[in-house]
Amino acid sequence: MVLTSTKNAEGTLVLGRMEEYEHEEVLFCFDRTTGLRSIIAIHDTTLGPALGGTRMWPYATEAEALHDVLRLSRGMTYKSALAGLDLGGGKAVIIGDARTDKTEAMFRRFGRFVDSLNGRYITAEDVGMSTAEMVNIRKETNNVAGLPEEMGGSGDPSPVTAFGVYCGMKAAAKTAYGNDDLNGRKVAIQGAGNVGRGLVGYLAKDGAKVFLTDIHDDKLAAIKAEHPSITIVKPNEIYDLDMDIYSPCALGATVNDETLPKLKCSVIAGAANNQLANEVVHGPEVMKRGILYAPDYLINAGGIINCAWERKGYNRKAALNQTENIYNTALSIFKRSAEENIPTYLAANQAAEQRIRSMKQAGLRF
Ligand code: NAD
Repeated sequence: MVLTSTKNAEGTLVLGRMEEYEHEEVLFCFDRTTGLRSIIAIHDTTLGPALGGTRMWPYATEAEALHDVLRLSRGMTYKSALAGLDLGGGKAVIIGDARTDKTEAMFRRFGRFVDSLNGRYITAEDVGMSTAEMVNIRKETNNVAGLPEEMGGSGDPSPVTAFGVYCGMKAAAKTAYGNDDLNGRKVAIQGAGNVGRGLVGYLAKDGAKVFLTDIHDDKLAAIKAEHPSITIVKPNEIYDLDMDIYSPCALGATVNDETLPKLKCSVIAGAANNQLANEVVHGPEVMKRGILYAPDYLINAGGIINCAWERKGYNRKAALNQTENIYNTALSIFKRSAEENIPTYLAANQAAEQRIRSMKQAGLRF
């Protein structure tokens, strides 16, 4: 059993029993003085210390926070394994509003909890966090990545993530069209954030016909000013476009029962985590519709690769080189999916599990 959760009649999230989970360790971190309420989940450390960001989010219930951290930490195990990194999977969540609840003391207290894990968990930025919080966490522990460049860190990982998504998209194009040239391809990008912006740059340079949407007009206007050739569309228009490639770079779960009948693309390749609302349902459904789905954790690994290089001694060129290899890994996953007639997400999961299993069997556990 991977992890189970259902909603009861009142809509409350009910989690499975402890023995049903495959995580190695889950630490609940509570500090009355600073108001810190956090959960750190270490999913698997076979390949190395569990590296994964901390998400700050106003979860309605602790059960929701637990569900999210268990799901996200498992995703990190697969992401790092597929990227060929010597890292395991972990993640942390802090329950709170990132706009109003942040204090230096809270993050230093959180840093002490991270430190208590003796290097089995290394944190970094995720939704709601920035390098400023990493600096405060670093005051209490060395086990943090994503530090600002002036502190010897690697800074914002988004440009490297965008490059990896671009490489993964090219591999998908090669598989779907027999040619990885994106010139003239119609690509619909959902999300004009840090990754979306970088991705537009690569695609515009290649001569792709880019459609871009966001809920914030100022972000769209800034990118349009840099790349006048792109077309801005309204958020609710994105799924109905005549497009070759749909690139979710905003939210998860946008490939679902409602959107799938509308999507006229032949490739889905974007940065957002957990794009398939339910991988067991929508993975096969996407395949049945003749759409090639590039698993998100396969092609958005540029950020974690960047963090891994920060831990080793940052080398931007090496980080980009390793990220470029997402192209080859993606080709091999698509090939496996075609040969075995299984959805791409399953082919990716199996490749990750195979790597972890072989290290365990060879007695090469971290
Ligand atoms: P971001 O917050 O900078 O950008 C997300 C953008 O999506 C924002 O501009 C937001 O306004 C927009 N958005 C939100 N709801 C929307 C909607 N309904 N329709 C259209 N746009 C909407 O985030 P980012 O760093 O660019 O990351 C994008 C996605 O990729 C996220 O899901 C993130 O978890 C994932 N990801 C990011 C990285 C990274 O290195 N930044 C790494 C791996 C995965």
